[in-house]
Amino acid sequence: MPYLQMACEEVMPRIVQSLWQRGCCPVCGGKPAFAALAKDSGARSLLCSWCSGIWGYGRTGVSIL
Ligand SMILES: [Zn+2]
Repeated sequence: MPYLQMACEEVMPRIVQSLWQRGCCPVCGGKPAFAALAKDSGARSLLCSWCSGIWGYGRTGVSIL
């Protein structure tokens, strides 16, 4: 979906990621394709399967479900 990826590039920099603690994409509402864990901080990042957006998640310990 090229349109969604373009929208993501425009929208993602405007999103305050610390305020978005949900398991769905802040840009398009899509479900994450996978989660990546940062080795040093343990912070989790999710990758959107629709628009390829990446956002932080799980710092507050909320379950993805
Ligand atoms: Zn998305």
